Amino acid sequence: MIPQINIEYPSYTVVTPQTLLTYKLRSLTVNDELNLKASITDEDNSASIMNRTIFNCIIEKPEQITDFKDWLKKTTAEDHKSLMYALYHCSYGDDIEYTNSCPYCNAINSGVVKLSKGIKINNYEGAPLEILDKDYKLSLEISKADVYFKYPTVQKSLDLGKNIEKVLTDNIEPYLLYIDKIVYGDKTFSMSENNIDLITMFKILPAKDRKSIDKFILNEMNKYTINASYRIKCSSCAKTYKYDIDFVVQFFRQLQ
Ligand SMILES: [Zn+2]
Repeated sequence: MIPQINIEYPSYTVVTPQTLLTYKLRSLTVNDELNLKASITDEDNSASIMNRTIFNCIIEKPEQITDFKDWLKKTTAEDHKSLMYALYHCSYGDDIEYTNSCPYCNAINSGVVKLSKGIKINNYEGAPLEILDKDYKLSLEISKADVYFKYPTVQKSLDLGKNIEKVLTDNIEPYLLYIDKIVYGDKTFSMSENNIDLITMFKILPAKDRKSIDKFILNEMNKYTINASYRIKCSSCAKTYKYDIDFVVQFFRQLQ
């Protein structure tokens, strides 16, 4: 018989940068860690195991979220990063051990940085969840097509992951994450079952228009973010370089 045990797990509260919802998460348990560990060798399910684990660690969810499925649709990729950050913080604390190579001399540098010191969050300015319905439009100069962008949700990345293999290469995935539809004259090419229409339309765009899309995604669709970045001084050549933390990589380092 399992005795009644009430462990008070460390917790962390975070506001998602894009949908502006407040979540309180608790530390991973050993069981959560074992599940995540198993996900490393289970490539097909690794994303869903990670999502399930994050959701299970939410101890106070916002009233706007009803269940797991709803959460996948109402969480953007960037929001997901902020939840990973919160989960990391309450599970493993503020220290991040790093090992990386200097871009100037290739020497390997390692050390410890404080997660809280490098974190930068730029929140969307508006109402909670509003961003999900927001269209960002770019009119292309050469083709005269209009491209509509949306911030990608976790559900959308899962859908793309499922359909992507048979139809395209990795090079198009970042575009498909952000592009909601392309309108040309009276025709609309949108995300359909296998994305074929949208991909076909995208592929016939002139090269210069593709460059405008790149620029738009980089500048306009990258405003509300959470990042942890540091300046590392190389122990060999003494030059400094930028180091950005990838939360997913950090998690799996801790599991080893
Ligand atoms: Zn160096």
